[in-house]
Amino acid sequence: MQILVTGGAGFIGSHTCVELLKRNIDLIILDNFYNASPKVLDRIETITGKRPALCVGDIRDEALLDTVFAENDISAVIHFAGLKAVGESVEKPLLYYGVNIEGTVKLLSAMDRAGVRKIIFSSSASVYSDEAACPFSEDSLTGCTNPYSWTKWMIEQILTDLHRADDRWKIVILRYFNPIGAHPSGLIGEDPKGIPNNLLPYVAQVAVGRREKLGVFGNDYPTPDGTGVRDYIHVCDLARGHVLALEKMEELPGLEIINLGTGKGSSVLEVVSAFEKASGKPVPYEIKPRRAGDKPECYCDPEKAKRLLGFETEYSLEDMCRDSWNWQSKNPFGYEQPE
Ligand code: NAD
Ligand code: UDP
Repeated sequence: MQILVTGGAGFIGSHTCVELLKRNIDLIILDNFYNASPKVLDRIETITGKRPALCVGDIRDEALLDTVFAENDISAVIHFAGLKAVGESVEKPLLYYGVNIEGTVKLLSAMDRAGVRKIIFSSSASVYSDEAACPFSEDSLTGCTNPYSWTKWMIEQILTDLHRADDRWKIVILRYFNPIGAHPSGLIGEDPKGIPNNLLPYVAQVAVGRREKLGVFGNDYPTPDGTGVRDYIHVCDLARGHVLALEKMEELPGLEIINLGTGKGSSVLEVVSAFEKASGKPVPYEIKPRRAGDKPECYCDPEKAKRLLGFETEYSLEDMCRDSWNWQSKNPFGYEQPE
């Protein structure tokens, strides 16, 4: 059995590859390195003692996909590859619909041709509607505010229709909350290009001295300290969730949508304070206006993941900040050190 991991060189993909290899599950990564470094492969090998097979290419390349399925004994796909920057998706919707939706349809078509009908798909908590109340359960109202989230919502619909049309498909849609942290070795982690959009990499870059201060987007939300609340989940917990989904897939009825989060919300200021404690470094910040499209709070009901997958998170916010700092301080410029 071999697992095809699309986007396996990226942040969540690389941690999932480590988790798979740790359990002796053979895999092949398909990645075009659009948002990843080839050095990830060396790091995965250092951690696990095994070097994953790699195919460099685009998920929209049908001929390549057919070759990958023909030349390998693939039994299931974990599909991470895609674009994920909300702001960029507003500027470049065609790019996002192209890579995420066209890419997924081409991947599913190649899987169908090859008779490989098991897929785990990376969806997002951002598909939950602003009208829905926290904690979000899988049947909470959905609805999106930007092209990135719509791509996730539409792919969920495509997968649902595919399963309806052909019940040989086994599909697990995982809705991630906010993945942060890094592998405890400090060898792999999140390495955003340019100015980070997300809170944790920004905080980490302030702590390491790459940026002067954090802008806190709004302190007048109806939350305990007025700042936005999110459900942060350690990327290693998230990675383990994928392996559990893979293992349980056969027993599941066909298509399941499952939240992966801790069920606990933390505010921006709580994160800042936990990070200062973990790093021993100050994280200066200033309050800025709210960021357009942000929800006041977003945290999950993790009951279904526990019931269906036996999944429970193990890492605390303190652990996430410690591991994120360990990665950031050992690799202040990510995978590519400046000359
Ligand atoms: P990432 O950018 O680190 O990883 C995505 C990987 O896909 C990268 O290695 C990139 O090079 C590759 N890729 C991009 N376009 C490709 C293409 N056309 N062909 C082949 N490879 C391609 O992102 P991540 O944080 O690891 O996210 C993985 C998945 O999880 C994405 O689908 C993302 O939308 C989803 N997700 C992420 C978050 C988050 O906060 N990180 C939250 C919810 C959902
Ligand atoms: N945030 C912030 N400053 C930043 C980045 C994010 O105050 O530089 C806040 C943001 O408003 C939200 C929380 O941190 O309340 C998490 O934001 P992130 O972009 O990491 O995740 P998302 O909003 O996509 O859940």
